[in-house]
Amino acid sequence: MKPATRLVHFESCPNDRFRPVATPLYLTTTFEQQSAFEFGQYDYSRSGNPTRAVLERQLADLEGAAKAFCFSSGLAAITAVTRLLNPKGEILASAFLYGGTCRLFTKLSQYSGLAVRYVGSTDVNSFRREIGPATRLVYIETPTNPLLRVIDIAGVAKVAHESGALLCVDNTMMSPYLQNPLLHGADIVVHSATKSLAGHSDVTAGVVAVRDTAIGEEVYSIQNGEGAVLSPFDCYLLLRGMKTLGIRLDRQESNAQKILGFLTQQSAVRHVYYPGLNDDVTGELHGSQARGGGCVISFDTGSKEASQRFVEALELFAITVSFGSVASSVSMPAFMSHVSVPLSLRSQNGLLSDLVRLSIGIEDADDLIGDLSQALAKT
Ligand SMILES: *Cc1c(COP(=O)(O)O)cnc(C)c1O
Repeated sequence: MKPATRLVHFESCPNDRFRPVATPLYLTTTFEQQSAFEFGQYDYSRSGNPTRAVLERQLADLEGAAKAFCFSSGLAAITAVTRLLNPKGEILASAFLYGGTCRLFTKLSQYSGLAVRYVGSTDVNSFRREIGPATRLVYIETPTNPLLRVIDIAGVAKVAHESGALLCVDNTMMSPYLQNPLLHGADIVVHSATKSLAGHSDVTAGVVAVRDTAIGEEVYSIQNGEGAVLSPFDCYLLLRGMKTLGIRLDRQESNAQKILGFLTQQSAVRHVYYPGLNDDVTGELHGSQARGGGCVISFDTGSKEASQRFVEALELFAITVSFGSVASSVSMPAFMSHVSVPLSLRSQNGLLSDLVRLSIGIEDADDLIGDLSQALAKT
């Protein structure tokens, strides 16, 4: 099955005698047992819940994973992955990371035995130069948030594996509809399902998907043992939202293409960032590992004040952190989602104060371009 079909054709409720078409919401914390010594399929909703099981199976299938696990946020999912390294070990992370992930890694290296080092460039050779015998996990995002730089998943996976390390890819920017890192050699995929997967700005959720069953058992014991699980109601909302992931992203991307055509013609806009735009080599690399460019466009104006005037003049684009929703939004990442990226990393990853990030929704493209146009006139 192609991704668009798979999104709506899955086992929505295995073994239910009523054969419901939509997955029922099991709002129950416990499940009655036959006796003190006999356990049913489920006993306690932290350990397992039928609504969550359907969602986790569907996410595993969409990512080509052996197993997937849902957490109460993207950061809870990423935290669970770092637990695989306990008690100590080194994470070699790309310097092009979501701000909250940087903050988590900084805290972990202060309070636990974990060490974190950053690679300040997106090419495979830089990872090869920096990886060391203590590295147990290589951690990347591609395309990166917010500059949409592309990293070669298969190339970095090879570097990691030659050194005995695992590769984890944060696939939030693409979602499983557009990119499946496990099929290119990654071992672990994480998502902030808060973004495109849920898609309606109403669920905070995270996913860990793994290729290997043994790693899956470890992640399960962390999910159950630490307890940052996704609630049944949020699982239900996420399952419902994911059915339209394909048509939402198709529409968001076609809107994004029209907006790219507009933005690249504007004198007030200096550089536009989108996966592979203006660079054939990167475009080819992205095309070899993804099925589209997604719904996020960034650009700079050369002046923080001009960017601020633009952002505040927009009417359809709400000023919010986050991206991937049906409604368009705008942010200035250096002051919002990425405020906790340390200055030492910003000099490596080029996160500048005039950067504007647009998340393109499913509205009419002409309305969006009209809004962008009137706001640019005010810079
Ligand atoms: C938002 C985001 C996260 C964190 O997810 P939450 O659901 O907000 O905890 C992680 N990675 C990326 C790329 C993100 O955009």
